[in-house]
Amino acid sequence: MEQGDNQSAENLLVSSDNGNELEDLPVKERCFEQREALPEEPRCVVCGRYGEYICDQTDDDICSVECKTILLARLAAKTKPATKEAKCVNLPFGDESFCITDNNFPNIPTLVASRITALRSKLDICVKGEAVPDPIMFFSSCGLPEKLVCNLETAGYCMPTPVQMQVIPASMSNRSLLVSADTGSGKTASFLIPIIAHCSRVRSHQCTGKLGPLAIVLAPTRELCLQVEEQAKVLGKGLPFKTALVVGGDPLAQQIYRIENGVELIVGTPGRLIDLLMKHNVDLDNVCIFVLDEVDCLLERGFRDQAMQIFQALSQPQVMMFSATLHSEVEKMSNSLAKNVIRISCGNPSRPNKSVKQVVIWVESKQKKQKIFEIMKSKQHFKSPAVVFVSSRVGADLLSEAITVATGLEVVSIHGEKRMNERRESLTRFLTGEVSVVVSTGVLGRGMDLLKVRQVILFDMPNSIDEYVHQVGRASRMGEEGMAIVFVNEEDRRLFKELVQVLKTAGAPIPRELANSKYTTGVSLGSGRKRKSRSRP
Ligand code: AMP
Repeated sequence: MEQGDNQSAENLLVSSDNGNELEDLPVKERCFEQREALPEEPRCVVCGRYGEYICDQTDDDICSVECKTILLARLAAKTKPATKEAKCVNLPFGDESFCITDNNFPNIPTLVASRITALRSKLDICVKGEAVPDPIMFFSSCGLPEKLVCNLETAGYCMPTPVQMQVIPASMSNRSLLVSADTGSGKTASFLIPIIAHCSRVRSHQCTGKLGPLAIVLAPTRELCLQVEEQAKVLGKGLPFKTALVVGGDPLAQQIYRIENGVELIVGTPGRLIDLLMKHNVDLDNVCIFVLDEVDCLLERGFRDQAMQIFQALSQPQVMMFSATLHSEVEKMSNSLAKNVIRISCGNPSRPNKSVKQVVIWVESKQKKQKIFEIMKSKQHFKSPAVVFVSSRVGADLLSEAITVATGLEVVSIHGEKRMNERRESLTRFLTGEVSVVVSTGVLGRGMDLLKVRQVILFDMPNSIDEYVHQVGRASRMGEEGMAIVFVNEEDRRLFKELVQVLKTAGAPIPRELANSKYTTGVSLGSGRKRKSRSRP
């Protein structure tokens, strides 16, 4: 193995199992690429996953370059005194160099300026705007409360995801942001972490009296709000940080009671929050962070005016807007809410997550049920837990019953007409593995954290290609592999052109009927079409 100053962090790992050098093996860069350890196997000293490598500098078991970096940074923090001279250390992502500088966080490596562009380009981070703060490599790099950093570790967040690397420092410098990122990229924590840091800083300096809420997050669905609030509670545990969930389906009186007793963060849907604010006087003067999550969906669902109404009741807060897809309406909204906005995009948000394999099947409407039964009975094709998306509420109930009868699988349905408690219970049963399939309308398509989903079946095509991207994205979280099976037929012709474009970009096969449809004309099918016609008898 090469030794020397310019070694990359990858070269500093040696294989623990057989002593082979790693030149011809792909070294796992990120912790989430590594599998869980089997009972007899070594475990990574940082995250507990399979300790595939030994760190050459410490002899510890380690799962990836990412965890090695964290391990070395922790050791550096423990052993080295702060120094005024900048020192370079090697960290992941190729040969990027980092400096240990005499700033507020003396033992935390920060990026050397010349490497920032390279890091952004490697991680697919694009930024636009004046004086955009540098990305961070560690949660501890931007002065978060110690307890918050501890909570992040307990939640298994070893290192920021790319979107977090850029959004957290930008947000902590009080700038307004418009962020687009792949589904499942860690967007939620990227706005919750600065909110929690801000709230606990304010509360710890406040002597007495109530201040009213300090931050508001608006999201388009109850489920998404529920999930954001739950993540906020996990990350804010043990800090002066309380939350209120303001969504329909739960009694308003309880929500008012909670806010009256003092909360730092309100997470809600725009309609219910307006309702509450009209009926009850809530002091919003100290709200200085306003987040719109899934802003394109908020607009599609007609929440624009309500979101604006809430914004106008605040005193010029910092605004953070998040969306998997950005279009002109979103840009317009952003311009009317804030000036000097930083635009951040991570990955390619208008395409489904790269880790999802898209399989589009041409199925006539009458044959759809039969087809889904066949898939779900097939050991080879069905991967549970799975989410099936349909277009109507009645359809969700009927299909879930039909699947249970035809396959014997445990299935639940979720849609907007179900009571909140029922939805919560079904989701919990699904997420804990008690049921293996959930049939849902679009309510589950947006931002829902279905960590364990391996397969998504689009029984009905959604209304827009944006919605398609979201639903397909449910099959993979944090880069784990997943599969989306999509039923399509002539009735979906309005989306043919865009669908073919999405499939082409992903390198996914295009069914013959779709490729040859007159509604697909105008889209270049490139070599795919030539191959198809050559292989025909
Ligand atoms: P989101 O895109 O916000 O829906 O997040 C997707 C999933 O990633 C959620 O399960 C989060 O708990 C998880 N997650 C967020 N940030 C990190 C991180 N830095 N490391 C590991 N997991 C994370």
